[in-house]
Amino acid sequence: MYSFAPRVKAIFPGLIGSGDYASMRRMRIERCDSLSKALVLAAALTLSGCVTSSETGRSHLELMSHGEETSLGLQSFQDIKKQTPISKDAAANAMVQRVGQRIAAVAQMDGAQWEFVLFESKEPNAFCLPGGKVGVYSGILPITKDDAGLAAVLGHEIAHATQHHGNERMSRSMALNGLGSLVGLSMSASGASPRTMALFQNLYTPGVQIGTELPHSRTQESEADLVGLRYMARAGYNPEASLAFWQRFAEFNSKSGGGGTLFFLRTHPTDAQRIAQIQAALPAAKAEYRPR
Ligand SMILES: [Zn+2]
Repeated sequence: MYSFAPRVKAIFPGLIGSGDYASMRRMRIERCDSLSKALVLAAALTLSGCVTSSETGRSHLELMSHGEETSLGLQSFQDIKKQTPISKDAAANAMVQRVGQRIAAVAQMDGAQWEFVLFESKEPNAFCLPGGKVGVYSGILPITKDDAGLAAVLGHEIAHATQHHGNERMSRSMALNGLGSLVGLSMSASGASPRTMALFQNLYTPGVQIGTELPHSRTQESEADLVGLRYMARAGYNPEASLAFWQRFAEFNSKSGGGGTLFFLRTHPTDAQRIAQIQAALPAAKAEYRPR
């Protein structure tokens, strides 16, 4: 669990300090204001913020409700579909639907309106938004190779969504930016503010058309790997295919010179540690594997 105490002090410097009477009076008012803000923030963090991941039991911060997350996801996906060309490759589209629906059937996401779209893009990438909106970029298909390889990617991306990793990152960003941002970013009756939408898209979707994205933490990546392996096993794909996919991806990564500009490569580090972790998690995942 993340420690917020130093951050609260950094955000509310009025909590500490000294000065003459006038400035002390001003300080008292500021301190009171800051204290109430700090108390509200602390309440938000402790009462509604700390959530346990459904698959791994890990505690993490979530300040957005799942309903808010879902509505942001649905809205965002509409925007992405307007901005990004959709693939007309019938066979590739059929594969994305076939694999996607099987993973969706074993993933638990409240209020999901599953949709799988294959976008035409050279980027080797994929994402899943809250609400079950999944985008696959055609550039990843030569690396996934077959249904099981694609299942490894979709299992991983859908796991990021079902474990609310975007909510966690957005909540952390809100908390680090202080209560002002928290209030400013809240949802209104008419929907998300442009600022909320921009932050959401930066944190959830590939940066190709939107801008720079904050990388997933190593913890979130490991969790998505672990949960994704279970999903693909439960959906009837051999989880060993995940290992093969990440090895192919590592090879692609090294051939691309470390992937300096590619989003998926920046945010999905492929290293010996990841592959070793997947190897260690394979026996448990294989225990859930039922070939179809
Ligand atoms: Zn990831």
